[in-house]
Amino acid sequence: MQKRICQTLLVVSLFFLCSNLFGDEGRMQHEPENIQNSEEKPQSDLITPVNENPISIDQALEKKLNEIKKPARGVILLIADGMGVGCIKYARELICGRDGFLEIDKFPVIGRMIDYPANGPVSDSAAAGTELVTGKFGRNKAISISPTGEAYLTLWEMAKHLGLKVGVVTDTRITHATPATFYAHVKDRAMEEEIASQLVRSGFDVFLGGGAHFFNKTFRKDGVDLFSESKKDGYEIALSKQDLARIVTEHNSKVIGLFADQHLSWSYMNVKNEPSLSEMSAAALQILGGKSQRFLLMIEAGKIDFTLHNNDLAELTMQMRVLEDTLKMLRDFVNQNPDVLLVVLSDHGNGGMSITEKFDPEKIRELATSTRYLEFQFKDKIKELPGYLKNHFSGKIALDEEKLKKFSGTNSNRLKAEAIGDLFNSQLGVELFSYETRKQQPVTSGHTGEDILIHSMGIHQNLFGGVMKIVDIPKKLGIALGLKFP
Ligand SMILES: [Zn+2]
Repeated sequence: MQKRICQTLLVVSLFFLCSNLFGDEGRMQHEPENIQNSEEKPQSDLITPVNENPISIDQALEKKLNEIKKPARGVILLIADGMGVGCIKYARELICGRDGFLEIDKFPVIGRMIDYPANGPVSDSAAAGTELVTGKFGRNKAISISPTGEAYLTLWEMAKHLGLKVGVVTDTRITHATPATFYAHVKDRAMEEEIASQLVRSGFDVFLGGGAHFFNKTFRKDGVDLFSESKKDGYEIALSKQDLARIVTEHNSKVIGLFADQHLSWSYMNVKNEPSLSEMSAAALQILGGKSQRFLLMIEAGKIDFTLHNNDLAELTMQMRVLEDTLKMLRDFVNQNPDVLLVVLSDHGNGGMSITEKFDPEKIRELATSTRYLEFQFKDKIKELPGYLKNHFSGKIALDEEKLKKFSGTNSNRLKAEAIGDLFNSQLGVELFSYETRKQQPVTSGHTGEDILIHSMGIHQNLFGGVMKIVDIPKKLGIALGLKFP
C-alpha cells in the first residue's frame, strides 16, 4: 500500500518539478492561445453543468490549471459534517432571527455538489471524506482505500510531499472517519487504533481534536505508547488549552493536540479546559500559515452530524453557533490574507430536516432540552424519564402517552436520544427522521443523499461556483494551489 503511494508521489514530484507551476515565466508557455479567441467562441467550462460542447471533467480541470497564474498560498477546507440546507435556515432563525444573516450567508460564491458513494445513494463520512480528499469514489466505512485494498493518495499527502504545511482540526476524535480520510488508509473506519498509528507516521504538521484514548498504551491492544512515538517523530503534544497556547507562542512546527479522550465535550458538560473549534482553527492557522508559508488546513465541525443523529435541537443550536464562531474567525483571516482560499461544505445530509408551519424559534429556545443530555441523565433510570418530561413540558407540549410508554418498559428498551427527540420535535416545528426510520438505515443511521451547498471566498473562489461532483472538489483545490491532482 505504502509502495503504491510512494510511486504516485514520485510521478507527482516529477510533474511538479517539470511544470514550474509557481513561476510566472514558466506559466507563459502554458497559456491558452489568447483570451480574445475564447470570447469569440464560447468555451465549455466547469461552471456550466450542461453545455453544447461538452468536454471531460479532466480536460476542463486541465484547462483551469493552465489558467491559474497566481496560485493560492493556502487553502482552508471546512467540512460541516451532516449539515443539510435545512440546518442553515434553522440556525439563522435561532441565532440571528429571520431577517438576519449568518456568516455562511455572507460568502460571495455558492456552488452545489452532487454527492454519492461508490456503493449506494447515500454517503457516510468515510466515503464522503475519501471523495473530498482523494478525488476517487469511496465506499461507506472505508477510509481512503480502494476496494482491493490499495491506498488512494490524498491531496494533503501530496501537498506535504511537495513541501507545503498541512493540518487537520476537528471537534470529534482525530481518528474519526472524516479527519482520518485525510491521512490514513484502512478498510474500516472502526480501526481507530491503526488510524492513530498512521497519524503519527503521516508527517503532517498539525493535528488538533479529541481521541487521546487511541494514543494511550493503557487502552491500546498492542500496548504501544503513541505519545512517546509522536515525540520521537518531532511532535509537541498538547493536552490542554494552555498547552496549545504555549506551543503556538513558541512557534513549534509539528503539533498533536488531543484535548479529550473521546470527542470534544458537549455544551451541557460545561468543560473549561478544552479549546473551542474556533480557537483550535486559529492556532492551526498560526502554526501552518504564518511567515508566508504555503499550507492546507482541513477543519471539521463534526458534531452537527451527531446532534442530527440524536434528534437533538438544543445541541444543534449550540453546534451551529460553534460553526458561526469559527466562520467569523476564518472570514476575518481570509479578508486579511487575500492569497488564501476558504471553501465550506458538508459531506452529506442527515435526518431529512425540515421546518414546518409550527416552527417557533422562541418556543425552541425555551423548551428544547438536549436529548443527548437526557439520555445520559436517565440511562440507568429509564422509568423516571416520563415523569421528568411531564413535569418539564406540562401545559407547553402534548406528550404522546403511547410514545412515553416506550420509556417505562423493560431495560431491553435501551434509552436513545433520538427516541426522546421524537416526543417533541414535531411540536416545535422541526421534522427529523424518527428513531425507527434511522434504524432502517443501518449503515448511515439516517444520513440523506441530497445535493450539498458549497460556499467559497478568497483567491480562486470562482472555481467552486456552479454544479460539480464531490470527487471534483480536491482536483479544484489542487488547481487553486497550482497543483495537478491526482
Ligand atoms: Zn459525515
